[in-house]
Amino acid sequence: MNKTPIFQLNDGNRIPALGFGVFQVPTEGATYNAVLKAIDLGYRHIDTAVAYFNEEEVGRAVKDSGVAREEIWITSKMWLQDYAYEDAKQAIETSLSKLGVDYLDLYLLHQPYGKLSEAWKAMVEAKAAGKIRSIGVSNMTSTLWTKWQQQGLFDEMRPSVNQVEFNPYFQQKELRKLMAENQVILEAWGPLGQGNVELFNESALQRIANKYNKNVGQVILRFEHQEGIIVFPKSVHKERMQSNQDIFDFELTSDEMDSIRSLDRGQGRHNPDAAGVEEMLLSAFDVHKQD
Ligand code: NAD
Repeated sequence: MNKTPIFQLNDGNRIPALGFGVFQVPTEGATYNAVLKAIDLGYRHIDTAVAYFNEEEVGRAVKDSGVAREEIWITSKMWLQDYAYEDAKQAIETSLSKLGVDYLDLYLLHQPYGKLSEAWKAMVEAKAAGKIRSIGVSNMTSTLWTKWQQQGLFDEMRPSVNQVEFNPYFQQKELRKLMAENQVILEAWGPLGQGNVELFNESALQRIANKYNKNVGQVILRFEHQEGIIVFPKSVHKERMQSNQDIFDFELTSDEMDSIRSLDRGQGRHNPDAAGVEEMLLSAFDVHKQD
């Protein structure tokens, strides 16, 4: 039985609060098999991106799963190479076609740089045309959000989500306050700290895990869920996929929440505000290399 709670976005759409991420899951069958397994285990929310190069396998797995399209929430993300208006319109069509769907549940601007206003215009239009149900941004720090907001980027439509790095070592306190003021839900990327061993060895987390007969991964994901954050942990191993969604039958006390809050170090692995990040990202992923 699928017990995943639902969060309501600022545009009224209802998103499963836990999903399955496929960053760095390879193609040639690996993504297809992982997504098929995830859906079979009860996941109803998949997070992919153009720059993961696996949208086509995600789409095939959704189709072959036997679960109705409207029961599965699909998120993808536009890569910043495509932010010029005409390119952005084409990027949306390409994602729809690769995923083999008539509509995307959520489409994000993957990185907060470049011709963002042109890409956002294309996104707003695609939402109005029913091609995308909800639109959002990713990797928007408070500095970048404030800059773009002051330039009027969100005047016509506010993003529904901001997908950013988040784990107990990096709790995005300032950004969360700003997003709450704007009624924008936070999605965590790297919710398990991308498997950070130091994090998994934290004694506070281990103590709580023992108390509830859960593992540390489950305690981390439960903490994030109770903070109101959407999570989509990644694993291609069946036991971990199973365990990562088995977080809805226990509740952390406010003392336990506070003890995990105190693990915050205020910074993550990736700093979107740093100089040269846009250029670094553009050279790291060329989404048109196979065109
Ligand atoms: P994650 O925090 O989900 O960690 C994944 C790693 O944690 C796995 O490779 C595995 O080594 C380990 N792991 C998984 N389950 C575990 C368990 N139960 N116990 C111990 N270790 C476990 O990191 P992620 O994949 O980078 O992030 C999740 C998703 O977020 C991605 O798949 C992707 O969809 C999205 N993402 C988005 C961005 C962005 O820029 N918007 C960036 C990175 C990731």
